[in-house]
Amino acid sequence: MTVPPENQQQTPHRCGYVALAGRPNVGKSTLLNTLVGQHLSIVSPKAQTTRERVSGILTTSHYQILFIDAPGLIEPRYALQEAMRLAASAAIDEADVVVLVVDATEPDTFPDQEIGATLRARSVPIIIAVNKVDLVDGETAARLVGEAEALGYSTLAISATTGAGLSEFLSVVVDRLPESAALFPEEDSATQSVRFFAEEYVRETCLELLHEELPYAVTCRVDEFREGQDPVYVRIVIYVERESQKGIVIGRGGATIKQIGQRSREKIEALVERRVYLELHVKVLEGWRRKHARLRQLGYALPSHTKGGQKRT
Ligand code: GDP
Ligand code: MG
Repeated sequence: MTVPPENQQQTPHRCGYVALAGRPNVGKSTLLNTLVGQHLSIVSPKAQTTRERVSGILTTSHYQILFIDAPGLIEPRYALQEAMRLAASAAIDEADVVVLVVDATEPDTFPDQEIGATLRARSVPIIIAVNKVDLVDGETAARLVGEAEALGYSTLAISATTGAGLSEFLSVVVDRLPESAALFPEEDSATQSVRFFAEEYVRETCLELLHEELPYAVTCRVDEFREGQDPVYVRIVIYVERESQKGIVIGRGGATIKQIGQRSREKIEALVERRVYLELHVKVLEGWRRKHARLRQLGYALPSHTKGGQKRT
């Protein structure tokens, strides 16, 4: 993605968190993948699985956007509750800009007056991205944009698949970000996010394979990541809260951990586009979710920390 030429001179460097909100299937993941250019957005059928929500990082010499997932506006008939939940969610509080993605072919995905009022009550800037405009005629697209603008939002027509409207979209987003240096060092950001996503892939795979058994007790950390060799060597520790959970992750005769390893390795290989040797270890970190010291040890930012503190060191 490139910034329009007029923005390239004397503009301060900007960096911030952008929450992508919107109902399922409106195209949030597609948009993220097109913007960030890699398969980086983690999809999991279970709700609330993304504890650390940075799902993509877009770095240029002028700005850095940290995309975070926000809960969707799910059932139209529960729209108000959903909107309130969205408005109350930490993702919105942490965001510098909220992008509400709607589907040009699905009027139900557009915010109504109530949602409009609820969201506008927050001080965070909200941008509506009318996606999939490649599927409607120009007149329809213009009408939809007009309707969303009438609710008081900056609105842009985009297509996440063809890329139409995306550079204008980006410049509108970037204009609303705070002036700030990059939070992830530019030269490190690729490696940082590869490590980050490797952890997320293993955790996602645990959730897929372990179902209801211990969904939220699992967190993963890269212990070693050696890119300088073929295959790339990755060692990841899966942390659980109790000895019994360790048994579940390992499975009978090691069958479960083997399957977790295989699936996770394939995902990491697809990300780095190289062969990967993945070694997994399971460790018990007694009650890690409830203990601040343990959470810090795992690199979680705790509420007393500032936004910048979310970055793991
Ligand atoms: P999410 O649930 O909001 O993350 O939506 P996805 O990104 O998974 O997209 C849902 C479906 O819409 C997929 O089949 C995408 O290929 C399709 N899609 C997303 N964006 C566009 C677009 O701009 N144009 C078209 N024609 N299809 C799109
Ligand atoms: Mg998605």
